[in-house]
Amino acid sequence: GGGEMIKEPSCMSSVIPGWFSEMSPMWPGEAHSLKVEKILFQGKSDYQDVIVFQSATYGKVLVLDGVIQLTERDECAYQEMITHLPLCSISNPKKVLVIGGGDGGVLREVARHSSVEQIDICEIDKMVVDVSKQYFPKVAVGYEDPRVNLLIGDGVAFLKNAAEGTYDAVIVDSSDPIGPAKELFEKPFFESVNGALRPGGVVCTQAESLWLHMDIIEDIVSNCREIFKGSVNYAWTSVPTYPSGVIGFMLCSSEGPQVDFKKPVNPIEADESSVKSFGPLKFYNAEIHSAAFCLPSFAKKVIDSK
Ligand code: SAM
Repeated sequence: GGGEMIKEPSCMSSVIPGWFSEMSPMWPGEAHSLKVEKILFQGKSDYQDVIVFQSATYGKVLVLDGVIQLTERDECAYQEMITHLPLCSISNPKKVLVIGGGDGGVLREVARHSSVEQIDICEIDKMVVDVSKQYFPKVAVGYEDPRVNLLIGDGVAFLKNAAEGTYDAVIVDSSDPIGPAKELFEKPFFESVNGALRPGGVVCTQAESLWLHMDIIEDIVSNCREIFKGSVNYAWTSVPTYPSGVIGFMLCSSEGPQVDFKKPVNPIEADESSVKSFGPLKFYNAEIHSAAFCLPSFAKKVIDSK
């Protein structure tokens, strides 16, 4: 008996005194926390809540709907991998489409590739673009490249109307499938991506965590196997401020010239103009490119069986 009262913390919102705790039904029962030095921006766009804060140990942090999108310290691990895994797997990428990615970090990485002639980006939320330009200049620097065309709009609608066979690569830098990004994880969206790719073109999409979301990953893999008639692969990287510390990507190619994602053919590390414009890469190299496709046994079993 006795019925001891367990007190709820006084504040169950994301910002508990002095610390930001990342709580979401997508990772119930756990919440990674960062010590907050100062909240720099708090706003509400038509699509989501937007927060920027200065953390004690990861630099500035961008949060959308309570979920960390990037920190200055570890954004390289995500932006470099989601971009160079697809672009270094094909020779001479020329036309690239980015869906989401409003912070500009993927644009910065695409801009390292001198073969690229056109970089289209479709981001739904202008506030993310503006906030990133104001608070994350080293990420938003991607917007300064003259090859970039920014369109504010829904990526799903954009791709439905995109001309067939246009892009060498599509990079889907989305938030989680709760909120505006929901449809970016569904079959009709992958079908329009496939239609927008030239034969043998490549797509790389944010594909959640092996530790938390094997169910979502299974669905994405089986959809992609039906749709993309080239190759279908899962790769992953380590990002300490993402839930569970890892994040994955689906890498697929459309029917046409074969792409072996595990053997990069288009090295970027030593490219002089890239280093001159944006500094050296911090995370990506050819070895980690191939290694990113090695899967832990529990995931390999599921992904290979789909
Ligand atoms: N690049 C970041 C990083 O370093 O981890 C992460 C994510 S980025 C900020 C995700 C973006 O996808 C957000 O800005 C969000 O507004 C955008 N987004 C969500 N749904 C979208 C949709 N349907 N069409 C276009 N953009 C969308």
